[in-house]
Amino acid sequence: MKIEIIKCLEDNYSYILIDEESNSACVIDPSESKPIIEYTEKNKINLKFILNTHHHFDHIGGNKDLKKKYNLKIIGFKKDKNRIPEIDIALNDKEIWKNDKFELKIYHIPGHTSGHVCYHFFNQNILFTGDTLFSLGCGRIFEGTYEEMFSSLQLIKSFPEETKIYCGHEYTLKNSEFCIKYDKNNSALIEKIRSIRKKLEKGYPTIPSTIKEELDCNIFLRSKDVESFSKLRDLKDNF
Ligand code: ZN
Ligand code: FE
Repeated sequence: MKIEIIKCLEDNYSYILIDEESNSACVIDPSESKPIIEYTEKNKINLKFILNTHHHFDHIGGNKDLKKKYNLKIIGFKKDKNRIPEIDIALNDKEIWKNDKFELKIYHIPGHTSGHVCYHFFNQNILFTGDTLFSLGCGRIFEGTYEEMFSSLQLIKSFPEETKIYCGHEYTLKNSEFCIKYDKNNSALIEKIRSIRKKLEKGYPTIPSTIKEELDCNIFLRSKDVESFSKLRDLKDNF
């Protein structure tokens, strides 16, 4: 299994997960169709599925065009089926879905939106977290409560430490500035900031991260209770 990171719009990432044996592929959160089509044509892959983490335009923008062009199937959360354009396969919370080598479990993680989900490809230990967990940050709370977002992050914390995290945006550097402001003496964070800067200087994404790195460095995952989490989230909104 191979993951291709596709830059979209301003700072979004879409991900193409490719089974190299069959050449079939899934795309996670296609913000727009153009860069996905370019990659698909150039590499002659067979795009079979779209997975959407939530309904925001910068995560579903390519759904319609890609479905028209490749006749693929669109997968999303059942409770959000009215907001995921052209959805074909509506999954329930904690349902396992499988097609050939693609095998995932979906988890409902509300907070950023009420219908936000993440997808865990448990055989490869890869987690697509959309706009809920970012590297060194978390999403804004648009539709949910602080309690919901906090408990969604607790769920994410329970994945194995080596789990690779692929999130929806390249916000890592800006997030790191917030983390270090309130967590000055965290040596793992200082080291992580060094490596982030190196990657960005070379034009590389800072993604993937891992659960371990986020547990060590992400101040939102490090907050012990919903009160301290809420305070941080408010501070970040005005950062
Ligand atoms: Zn969003
Ligand atoms: Fe987004």
